[in-house]
Amino acid sequence: MEIKSISSKKILTEAKGFLDFGYTHSLNPYAGCVFGCSYCYVRELPIQKFREQQWGTWIDAKSNASDIYRKEILNLRKRGKFVRIFMSSSTDPYQPIERKSEITRSLLDAMIDHPPDFLLIQTRSPLITRDIDLLVQLKEKCGLRVSMTVETDREDVRKIFAPHAPSIPLRIKALAEIKKAGIATQAAVSPMLPCTPDFPLIFSGHVDRICIDTLTIGDGAEGRRSKKLGMPQLFEAHGFSKWYDTNLHRKAVKHFLKFYPQDMIFVSQEGFAP
Ligand code: SF4
Repeated sequence: MEIKSISSKKILTEAKGFLDFGYTHSLNPYAGCVFGCSYCYVRELPIQKFREQQWGTWIDAKSNASDIYRKEILNLRKRGKFVRIFMSSSTDPYQPIERKSEITRSLLDAMIDHPPDFLLIQTRSPLITRDIDLLVQLKEKCGLRVSMTVETDREDVRKIFAPHAPSIPLRIKALAEIKKAGIATQAAVSPMLPCTPDFPLIFSGHVDRICIDTLTIGDGAEGRRSKKLGMPQLFEAHGFSKWYDTNLHRKAVKHFLKFYPQDMIFVSQEGFAP
């Protein structure tokens, strides 16, 4: 594992591509991600393509993130701009290094002083519960939603596709704590992986909404990136080929609607919208 502390010139990146649907900026406190999920589309982006080290084995920690955030948001506000932030699009803001470095925590602190109009925190790490004290303050100042990735309810499946990511029960426990603190929560079933018929039930009482996404509609390239990452072969190798289905999101929505009202269920991009 190669961990570097870097000074970043910019921390708010103008939203484009998959995020250009209501967000003005993405914010990545780190470059690189130790969770190293097999399906991660960042593996196919220039940030990884031009690195020698493998995805999941390096992190650049942007140690000056909160100072730069303060400067950038003041500048944007001076120009009368809306600021809706997606944190994070190409890393996990609560990967293990965050426990010590507290870069994401320092950003939340800065946001309490200089709030954006909306913040979506996208993570799969229970470490986010450490910052509930700050999230509770921030939700009084801006729109805030915590979106926790939960791709399946099967730990054996999680261990095939994302062996270094936190366990599913820990993620559900974190969602429950965040919801209990009065913060808006979302389960991001993204990408949906093979699961049991009871999967929808694990969210019961812990989320305000559920967003369903798949490897074919949610990789930002109509499934091409997932193919390049060898996902069809990985599904096949484990006897899951029937799950690699371009209609999976429709089937999943139909199933989830047996458990939740229509206004709680979203698909792909619309689910992540501010
Ligand atoms: S947690 Fe997110 S950014 Fe990190 S490897 Fe997994 S999909 Fe990629």
